Amino acid sequence: MTAIVWIRRSLREHDNTALVEALEEHERVIPFYVVDENYFSNAALGYPRVKFWHDSLEELKDNLANQEQKDLVIREGSPVDELEKIVEEADADAVYHNKDYSPYARERDEKAAEKLDVPVNSFKDIVMFEEKEILTNSDTPYKVYTYYSKKWFEKEKRRPREVKDYTTPDIESDEIPSLEELGYEKPEDFTWEWKPGREGAKERLEAFKEKIWNYDENRDYAWKDSTSKLSPHLKFGTVSIREVFWEAERLKARNPDADTSGIKTWQEELAWRDFYMQVLYNWPETVEKPFLEQYEDIEWRSKEEAEEDWKAFINGKTGYPFVDAGMRQLKKTGWMHNRLRMVVTSFACKDLWLDWKDLHEYFKKMFVDAEKASMIGGIQWAYSIGTDAQPYFRVFNPFSQGEDYDPDGEYIRKWVPELSEVPDEDIHRPHEMSEEKQAECGVEIGEDYPKPIVDHGEKREEAIEKFEEARED
Ligand SMILES: Cc1cc2nc3c(=O)[nH]c(=O)nc-3n(C[C@H](O)[C@H](O)[C@H](O)COP(=O)(O)OP(=O)(O)OC[C@H]3O[C@@H](n4cnc5c(N)ncnc54)[C@H](O)[C@@H]3O)c2cc1C
Repeated sequence: MTAIVWIRRSLREHDNTALVEALEEHERVIPFYVVDENYFSNAALGYPRVKFWHDSLEELKDNLANQEQKDLVIREGSPVDELEKIVEEADADAVYHNKDYSPYARERDEKAAEKLDVPVNSFKDIVMFEEKEILTNSDTPYKVYTYYSKKWFEKEKRRPREVKDYTTPDIESDEIPSLEELGYEKPEDFTWEWKPGREGAKERLEAFKEKIWNYDENRDYAWKDSTSKLSPHLKFGTVSIREVFWEAERLKARNPDADTSGIKTWQEELAWRDFYMQVLYNWPETVEKPFLEQYEDIEWRSKEEAEEDWKAFINGKTGYPFVDAGMRQLKKTGWMHNRLRMVVTSFACKDLWLDWKDLHEYFKKMFVDAEKASMIGGIQWAYSIGTDAQPYFRVFNPFSQGEDYDPDGEYIRKWVPELSEVPDEDIHRPHEMSEEKQAECGVEIGEDYPKPIVDHGEKREEAIEKFEEARED
């Protein structure tokens, strides 16, 4: 009896639910990965994410190949066709996989279940709670996070599970195509700062255990590097949600007298992740449309219409230093601090009136941790058009956000080096410096660094008016 374990975004052996479940019934298991031709020919994917995926997959393949009689069998092509072939080749009697909740993945998995002649068993793995597991008292999915998270914390949670011993029968495997073969190359001026794969995930988690105690106090300060940076690992499943949750619980148990508010705040973020996954599952149309219907007909400016502003925005040249620092961090490293994700997205909306779908396309390409549910959730939150969103009249001020969350301008100086000599009192509003002062710190505003491309006060008023008009229609 042989089972195929079709691995997609759980790029690990440990606590891999589909694998654990397959081994309840089978001793011979073929961990199987299809390099999906539809996925990789998709122009929406960018280098950071593909590199993280690629290196994690390679590590998993090496890791299995180095164990006796195990392998990760790779094929390139269309997943359903390749599954049909391997089932026949291996004379397998079942397929196991972990569930994925994006519309594309759901359609692909439904097709596989329809087409294959053997049972296809799918399991919850990438989230703690899925689909309709947490419902309101009237049995509807939650739209408000606070109530959802209360139940999320109360509900019993699964622990990580060990993988029993198994062997993989001899089956030919393709090589993992190189990034070049897949058509991806490192963008100019890009710094790769990640260690993908299982080892990278373990290191991140270990390092974060020091920081978690003060997470609640520090997490909003971009320059402090106080968050876990586990998001790409959770995205590609090099670590499981159960492992990270229970590791934090273990810390609490080992330190019974310690203040554990940092741990609680961090676990709340894991609940946000589940919350947005269930929003995407229950309202898949939010990939295309705002969750709040009254804003469906808003006419945003496309990136073509707003070409100059769009370019200034994505290149970090808006004249708003905190926003620019965030956008440059993203371009250079494939990651951006959460506070900045909120600030730049709010700026794209309320100050530049850019189409949120263009922003989504750009972010998908740029973020190493691009995760549909959290990204759509985050963008629609900042655009005031999503579930439990920022109210449209509470507009982030891009200057004071910097003053509050980067008071000494350390983060700005790191990512906007032309402002590195600007004194603390001017770092957030360098355009207000006199010419003499500009000369003293070696930056000419309007020449070396731009003046603000829009007036925030005016744009804020205009945005609120447009939202109010949309609500009246
Ligand atoms: C516009 C916008 C776009 C975003 N796009 C993504 C995305 O593509 N992928 C992604 O993983 N997160 C996204 N987020 C959420 C959040 O910014 C990142 O998860 C976080 O910055 C990742 O850093 P970390 O791993 O250090 O997080 P930590 O602060 O250490 O949090 C731990 C984990 O909790 C989860 N998490 C944290 N905050 C959120 C949140 N607000 N929503 C959902 N899950 C959260 C992540 O899995 C994260 O790794 C987005 C937020 C916004 C506002």
